Amino acid sequence: MSTLPFASAVYAARLERASALAAEAGLDAIIVGPGADLQYLVGVEGDTIERLTALLIGPGFAPTVVVPRMELAKVRSTAVGELGLAVADWIDGENPYDLVAAAVGSVGRVGVSDALPALHVVPIGARLGVTLELATPVLREGRMIKDAAELSELQRAGDAIDRVHRRVPEWLRAGRTEREVAADIAEAIVAEGHRTVEFVIVGSGPNGADPHHEVSDRVIEHGDIVVVDIGGAVPSGYNSDSTRTYAVGEPDSTAAERIAVLVRAQQAAVDAVRPGATASDVDAAAREVLTAAGLGEAFLHRTGHGIGVSVHEEPYIAPGNDLVLREGMAFSIEPGIYFAGSWGARIEDIVVVTADGCDRLNVAPHELTRV
Ligand code: ZN
Ligand code: ZN
Ligand code: ZN
Repeated sequence: MSTLPFASAVYAARLERASALAAEAGLDAIIVGPGADLQYLVGVEGDTIERLTALLIGPGFAPTVVVPRMELAKVRSTAVGELGLAVADWIDGENPYDLVAAAVGSVGRVGVSDALPALHVVPIGARLGVTLELATPVLREGRMIKDAAELSELQRAGDAIDRVHRRVPEWLRAGRTEREVAADIAEAIVAEGHRTVEFVIVGSGPNGADPHHEVSDRVIEHGDIVVVDIGGAVPSGYNSDSTRTYAVGEPDSTAAERIAVLVRAQQAAVDAVRPGATASDVDAAAREVLTAAGLGEAFLHRTGHGIGVSVHEEPYIAPGNDLVLREGMAFSIEPGIYFAGSWGARIEDIVVVTADGCDRLNVAPHELTRV
């Protein structure tokens, strides 16, 4: 029985599109290693290992999968088997790069997926006698624009993480450590419908001022502002990612005022999302509200990132990114403010570009939530 989230015709269409885009870009072949691209194209999940697994796509040959024989059964249980793609398997002692060369034939320009490791890129380049280039511009096209089935999976993930945020007041209180609170949250992420926990950030007090803080053994105190940024993958592999900021007891009044500005900044960016706007327009909308309130310097990162079968992907909602937004793109809007040594706050929703604006996939209350 297939465990694929979508019908095999969906994967066939994705492969065909990738091949057409490769041809348009002048590439004779694309080599896709394990990672989000391989998951998107044929439903094969898993990380890179030292043994080469790769999907080869190109305008001049049929899609082929090079795979270690010990992985063959797993790979066959995906769209690779359902679509009857050509498979070239190998065992230890054989040279998988010869199989790549045999499958692609004589090639000029060859692209590789972002996640193909140097461990394989260097020998493949040498074996094919070409300078490999990144296939990112070709591969991102398919993944950036979500179809209706993908959007419903992202909504499922958004609903599940909203349910977890609504339950955070059950666990977040003074006297507990960040790690204890995070353990309860992680359990709820799975209980509410995710198959995996991808990350749990509980940044209390000064730890909230570090956007990359995860959890620590710090004991949460009365008056702390706490950043809770959480996400997981639902069974289809699509991800959730949502941040809310909480106050344990009565917050400092300046902090409460600044967080109210942050909520407005986040809303301004959501309001700026529509087809034809650029990624940098959306980033600027959040930044302007914060700058006008004297908080521009406290906003230390980009406004958002795309999301799908990976948590961070294109489009990146960042200053200087002139990428024009199109219907079906899904990304986070997550401005934050950070005061080193003191506290931080971030508000994050996933939005989807619609014909005339956007839909918000996360609707748990945005304001500073007192617990
Ligand atoms: Zn997040
Ligand atoms: Zn995020
Ligand atoms: Zn992040």
